[in-house]
Amino acid sequence: MISVSEAIAIIKQQTPQLAPERVALEDALGRVLAEDVVADSDLPPFNRAQMDGYALRSCDVVNVPARLRVVGEAAAGSGWHRQMRAGEAVRIMTGAPVPEGADSVQQVEVTREMEDGSLVEIDKATSPGQFIIPRAREVKAGETVLLAGDRINAAMMAALASFGYAEVSVGARPRVAVLATGTELVAVNQKPGADQIRDSNSYSLGAYAALTGARVERLPLAGDDPELLRREIAQAAARSDALILSGGVSMGVYDFTKAALRSLDAEIFFERVSLRPGKPTVFARLGQTLVFGLPGNPVSVSVTFNLFARTALRAMQGAREAAMLEEHALLAREVKGAIERESYLPARLETNAEGQLLASPLKWGGSSDFVAFARATALINVPQGVKMLEAGAVVKIVRLPG
Ligand code: AMP
Ligand code: MG
Repeated sequence: MISVSEAIAIIKQQTPQLAPERVALEDALGRVLAEDVVADSDLPPFNRAQMDGYALRSCDVVNVPARLRVVGEAAAGSGWHRQMRAGEAVRIMTGAPVPEGADSVQQVEVTREMEDGSLVEIDKATSPGQFIIPRAREVKAGETVLLAGDRINAAMMAALASFGYAEVSVGARPRVAVLATGTELVAVNQKPGADQIRDSNSYSLGAYAALTGARVERLPLAGDDPELLRREIAQAAARSDALILSGGVSMGVYDFTKAALRSLDAEIFFERVSLRPGKPTVFARLGQTLVFGLPGNPVSVSVTFNLFARTALRAMQGAREAAMLEEHALLAREVKGAIERESYLPARLETNAEGQLLASPLKWGGSSDFVAFARATALINVPQGVKMLEAGAVVKIVRLPG
């Protein structure tokens, strides 16, 4: 049986990056940059006043109060473009270009205009450079400011806008089909009969997939009919970049997912991972479509999606971030491992008064308890061979999205 990290390595190796597309800037939030973003201008583009006040020469206000002649006004968007001379000041607003000849700005609070605004008295000396952000201090034209593979966040939207990226090249959103198998399942708007349950996996999987940036199609429930399953898998695969199946991958008499994939000549890369929960996870390719066969147990579905399918869906978009960030936390309570397999157990993260990140393992009714799992914000990793981790131990964690 392969390890979780081996499984992830196989997935990365088999996952192609989709061809990028160009989108309008307003549609770019959350998408993955497919191009480096280069500044088309200096920032600031001119020596910029950082305060409302007076542009002046610091040598004119060594002895204060000092009187200066107000020779003009520079506002944001319309500067004063003459040479400022000894004994002169220019009234200036935040964001305006500082006139030639001035070396500092004094803020309006320590000044007084006199005689109809033709004179100003400055109460406080300035040092050269005060309240001026020199041209190109923040960014030089031609500089690369964002990298391909970055996920575009709200702050990056400002950088893109500032450098004229009205359109931006981003990784295409994978088309993901979600198909739940199981004769016991009924749709959410139905009352389950005896022996039946409502399908919940289609919704958690659809939501997790959407959070990666994918476009999601939830397919009608498939039951456990091998022929029907085969047809639905083939049809869904033909119109998607990734197919996420839930259920039917264990050793039960009615577990037909793998048989259906084999009969369609899918290439199966692995069908068991040394993992708890989630051992019978299947990863395959059918034509160009990646197929994840996840164990139907609702908690297993969430754990295996986030360890495996998420990695692929982010890689398809060209994301540079590791899908599974290696983070660490202190264990708030002891947890038991599975010894023969690596475990990923649900936990809530919180920080204590000392500023430490604590992972509290959830009290739950086992790996089918998806209602308790809804409170989890992370998974705690217990390595294979470890019987027990004590409270206070440093553990590896994987944050859950959403
Ligand atoms: P399976 O992997 O098909 O053997 O299913 C394992 C367990 O998960 C069984 O108890 C199923 O009833 C349950 N299960 C399977 N699919 C779903 C689903 N879509 N929604 C909720 N529970 C499910
Ligand atoms: Mg089943």
